[in-house]
Amino acid sequence: MNIPDDILLMIPGPTNVPPQVLDALGSPSFYHRGAAFKELLEVCTEGLKKVYQTANDVLILTSSGSGAVEAAIVNVLSPGDKVLVIEGGKFGERMKDIAMTFGAEVEVLPVEPGRAADPEVVRRLLSDHKALLFVQNETSTGVRQDADLLAAAAREVGALSVVDTVSSMGGMSIPVDEWGLDAVAAGSQKAFMLPPGLAFVSMSEKAWEAAASARMPRAYFDLVAARKSLAKGQTPWTPNVNMIRALAVSLELIFAEGLENVWRRHHALGEACRAAVDALGLRLFADREHASDVVTAVHSPDGLDSKELVSRVRDNHKILISGGQGELAGKIFRIGHMGCCQLDDLLRTIEATAIELNALGFACAAQEGLAAARAAYQAAMG
Ligand code: PLP
Repeated sequence: MNIPDDILLMIPGPTNVPPQVLDALGSPSFYHRGAAFKELLEVCTEGLKKVYQTANDVLILTSSGSGAVEAAIVNVLSPGDKVLVIEGGKFGERMKDIAMTFGAEVEVLPVEPGRAADPEVVRRLLSDHKALLFVQNETSTGVRQDADLLAAAAREVGALSVVDTVSSMGGMSIPVDEWGLDAVAAGSQKAFMLPPGLAFVSMSEKAWEAAASARMPRAYFDLVAARKSLAKGQTPWTPNVNMIRALAVSLELIFAEGLENVWRRHHALGEACRAAVDALGLRLFADREHASDVVTAVHSPDGLDSKELVSRVRDNHKILISGGQGELAGKIFRIGHMGCCQLDDLLRTIEATAIELNALGFACAAQEGLAAARAAYQAAMG
């Protein structure tokens, strides 16, 4: 087997994992129905509530992020419920697919990739919908939605907000209670600095009320069962105990840095990446006002298939960036800057990208890109 373990991951997940977290993953396994696990689950649940900025229940699932998205949907809806889904990229499309699979009556608001939904348009469209489904940070396009305004629009008509924050929770401030988000899904392999394999979902009181009568089929992802087990310090099924142990360590690292500082660092990395894109003469894919602080999508220069750039950066510099997904394949490239990412990691990535662009015949000034990134980072860090 040849799994490269010396590659700097600058993709929007999985991200690099700090050594302390790796140590926890390598520790002996242990029993999930004992006092030690109960204590661990309590610590992790309380930590997640701080990250989510919520007094609501936050449940830990052994699955990838999509499991939490599915759980959020199937626990509050019944077949035939009318929902509005905002679709501006790959993950909005996935939310739509999940809702359709389980029999929701899905209305789609298509949004041009790279743009955020206009909350006013959403307000006008919402009527007797049971829920509004949207991705707060659309990883495929690097777009952040105005989740507060979207959730407010849903509330006006009594609809629930079901929100995918898989790539953003932890890296951006998403005050779940203040914004009134009802069911909020996240995943471990992004800003939480863990490998893939755990997912988190918060449920508001309104979401629990909906769960009491929701009839979409569910078994493994039954959150009522998960809540009952949590009260006993357990999970309904055998959880990935090592990952939960590692989650405790990653939360410790987050709180040691300070949540506000973590969010500030991510914002500064976003600013730095955007400044470098400008200075290199490239074009941001996302509408600047809604550009994500955890992943930056960039138009590939005319005539360049971004797959070639991604391969060269990987092979010549041992840095992995992402290409585009679906219709955007070859047309954009994406740099992830989340989790334990530091300015130096981003600078290495900018330099490598600039070197390879030049080698491919697309002239750009690497030093200007680096200087712009440093300056923007310092300005944002204050
Ligand atoms: N939603 C968003 C916004 C994502 O970025 C991802 C993964 O990249 C997912 C959902 C799916 O998560 P997973 O691949 O962990 O199931």
